[in-house]
Amino acid sequence: MPAQNRNCPCGSGDRLDECCGRHLAGIPAPSAERLMRSRYSAYVLGDVDYLLQTTLAAQRAGLDRAAMQAWSLQSTWLGLTVEKTEQSASRPAHAFVTFSARWRDASGEHIHRERSAFVRHGDHWYFIDPTVPLHAGRNDPCPCGSGSKFKKCCHGATTR
Ligand SMILES: [Zn+2]
Ligand SMILES: [Zn+2]
Repeated sequence: MPAQNRNCPCGSGDRLDECCGRHLAGIPAPSAERLMRSRYSAYVLGDVDYLLQTTLAAQRAGLDRAAMQAWSLQSTWLGLTVEKTEQSASRPAHAFVTFSARWRDASGEHIHRERSAFVRHGDHWYFIDPTVPLHAGRNDPCPCGSGSKFKKCCHGATTR
């Protein structure tokens, strides 16, 4: 089957080229959930550049490209479930998506459930990687670029 006719790996039921494929090709994902879905599809398709581009700029230098590529290519991706999206009226540039992703590798089947934070800059949503520390003082501007103080914004969005 030609690649463009395949069903989207994110599980939407739509064709890849009418779903996450459009975002991988450069059209910004219009919501945090769409970005989350397209990042899962990028893992399935091995598009590490997309994963880097859609991570918060302040965290990009802390990403391990080789490890991301290896995880992407050495896993058999089994599916994505998006449980819910949360967005508060008081912080419209931020959203949280709770999801679980399943994959299989040499050590067996795995499931990862996470409530991921996302931030919007203009037309673009970005993933805030919980494993990459954000460095800022509590009263400094948040590294996410929102303009809020760190302590009132993404402080706590990363786990280490
Ligand atoms: Zn999709
Ligand atoms: Zn922030």
